[in-house]
Amino acid sequence: MAVEVVLASGNTGKLRELGDILGSVGMVLRPQSEWAFAEAIEDGATFVENALKKARHAAEHTGLPAMADDSGLVVPALDGAPGIYSARYAGPDASDEENNAKLLRHLSDRHGRERRAYFHCAMVLVRHARDPVPLMASASWWGEVTAAASGSGGFGYDPLFWVPDLGCTSAELAPEVKNRVSHRGQATRALLDLLRDAGLAGD
Ligand code: IMP
Repeated sequence: MAVEVVLASGNTGKLRELGDILGSVGMVLRPQSEWAFAEAIEDGATFVENALKKARHAAEHTGLPAMADDSGLVVPALDGAPGIYSARYAGPDASDEENNAKLLRHLSDRHGRERRAYFHCAMVLVRHARDPVPLMASASWWGEVTAAASGSGGFGYDPLFWVPDLGCTSAELAPEVKNRVSHRGQATRALLDLLRDAGLAGD
């Protein structure tokens, strides 16, 4: 019988992407929006803490196993900013353009290695709200922050994220290429291996 899992996210893109992957191993992903409860408070200090909070919260309110991810852009030269605040770097309701403009401002006098950055993604699955051994996978994807935005694909910081190996920004990558190499793609595949090892997913 298929294992049902709640995805602690309202993002339809993520639901489709993860739903396809997990569907292929006999799991059925249901969006948290099928239930009517408030979102988890993301007050952790790290990506993994926030992902865990979201997953536990969803499991508690649905009684089903729950999966969550948390991701963002980390710039070591800015002490890790925007980091876990990536979505709201320029303010609580900031647009991608406002966040990108703030990042460019803060890096305006930085050059070379100081512009190195990585996207990070933490993915967590809890079998139930108090699961003492959550399945956790994470991945980082290194690149550099460009001096000016380029490309119209993706979202968030993609137009500013230069991928040296591919010679373009992540906003210029075809979606299937980005999914293969990105922080989220890598973390998803690692979580899938853990799910198989735990007997929650078929081959
Ligand atoms: P979330 O936790 O996956 O919803 O991502 C939080 C924020 O991190 C997003 O709003 C983006 O600003 C940024 N982010 C995460 N992943 C990506 C990506 O693949 N491309 C660009 N920005 C990203």
